[in-house]
Amino acid sequence: MKKDKNFKFRLDASLCKGCGICSALCPTGALRSDAGGRPVFDEAGNCAGCALCELRCPDFAARLEQSACGGLA
Ligand code: SF4
Ligand code: SF4
Repeated sequence: MKKDKNFKFRLDASLCKGCGICSALCPTGALRSDAGGRPVFDEAGNCAGCALCELRCPDFAARLEQSACGGLA
């Protein structure tokens, strides 16, 4: 499936406590938790851009960015 947006998950590791909420709420499997409960964004192609990870992080450690397809970044 062709995607018209590229999403990037940014983590502020200094704020993340490894609660696993973001990974648990991710509806597409784009995020998984590592052994410490911290999110790993290794299925970026699955990200739907719903921003639940950012909105539900209790510590403001997660941020979702998006860029238009064909962008330089
Ligand atoms: S919800 Fe926030 S604090 Fe919890 S694991 Fe995810 S980024 Fe870290
Ligand atoms: S924006 Fe939605 S689909 Fe993408 S990583 Fe966050 S919770 Fe998962």
